[in-house]
Amino acid sequence: MGIQIDALKCIACMACELVCGYHRDDAFALLSSCIVPYRGREKKNYVGVILKEEDSLVAARPEGVEINRIGEEQDPEKEADASAKPMLLRESCDLCDDMEDGPLCIAFCPTGAISMT
Ligand code: SF4
Ligand code: SF4
Repeated sequence: MGIQIDALKCIACMACELVCGYHRDDAFALLSSCIVPYRGREKKNYVGVILKEEDSLVAARPEGVEINRIGEEQDPEKEADASAKPMLLRESCDLCDDMEDGPLCIAFCPTGAISMT
């Protein structure tokens, strides 16, 4: 069981980042969030989402999802996304295991871009 992200549905509204930070810190602390949407600098309307999991960084991009195992050598282009924010230092997604109604990011995503696998 895990989080699945369809970057093609993402509009970079940042709701998932906000609610995840809230889940982590009981405040809107973006730096505590383990999910981070970002806009591409080069391409117009290019949106990706990075998720920190226990053993990996998941990069959901319009062209597909890439799972980068933490500790393994990264493609420089993939690292460029992840280094936009210090994702490796963040806590891993716990699937909101203390929330009765399940993951907050899924509940608050307005486009259905996030789901459970
Ligand atoms: S499931 Fe919970 S902990 Fe995981 S990314 Fe979503 S809000 Fe954050
Ligand atoms: S809440 Fe959904 S649409 Fe908004 S940034 Fe996150 S994944 Fe994208």
